[in-house]
Amino acid sequence: MSCFWVPRIIECARTGQIPTAEIRQHLAECLHCERRWAQEELLSSRLRSIRQASAVGRSSVEGRRLILQRFAASPRPQSFGPKLWLAIAASLLIGFVSFTTWPHRQTLSPVESDWSAEGFVAVPFALPLASGEFVKVVHADLQPSDFARMGIEVDTASPSPISADVMSGEDDLPRAVRVSGEQF
Ligand SMILES: [Zn+2]
Repeated sequence: MSCFWVPRIIECARTGQIPTAEIRQHLAECLHCERRWAQEELLSSRLRSIRQASAVGRSSVEGRRLILQRFAASPRPQSFGPKLWLAIAASLLIGFVSFTTWPHRQTLSPVESDWSAEGFVAVPFALPLASGEFVKVVHADLQPSDFARMGIEVDTASPSPISADVMSGEDDLPRAVRVSGEQF
């Protein structure tokens, strides 16, 4: 399912480059890559919002509110199977789990839940889930450095934890994350 072009497409979206004619041509021909591109663009725009809000808000409640508002305002990605983006296995996430709080857990089947519809953003380069593997959603206050370890850049100088829901597989490695606004 994974396509040869995916790494180039991810890199292009992450670095904010304009896709080359070669890439555009491929996007026009490959549904898989076209959807991937849309997801990456959405993710990149959210990350830009987080960075901007972090830079503006710095530790203030207002800044955190901004982050959450922008997350909530972002259009939800169209429905896509978890397999589609989880098929891209790349570098391992090592030493991520440093949550201070794990207050509640729930288990749900990845088949039953549409992650993107629930506002989750895929963790870049996460390992694919095994077929039929159950996932857990854990609420945690994440530091910007925790996001950085997941490949999601935020202003690391900001000391404010960000309230988030983290979806992980049975191996406890995070696959998707959602900024949660319940506390605000
Ligand atoms: Zn392709």
